[in-house]
Amino acid sequence: MDVRAHALLTGNPARGVGWACTCGQKLPDSLNCPCGRTYKLKGQTLTPDPSP
Ligand SMILES: [Zn+2]
Repeated sequence: MDVRAHALLTGNPARGVGWACTCGQKLPDSLNCPCGRTYKLKGQTLTPDPSP
């Protein structure tokens, strides 16, 4: 898994632009996508947070 792909989707991660989900939607500040995927930020890296 290459999480840097997410950064490429948004262009400027962690600089006010935000993050994009793998489904293509922009993630809210909560990093919980409406599609059901959730993410966590580890430092400057967006990490998928799979829920059971
Ligand atoms: Zn999504």
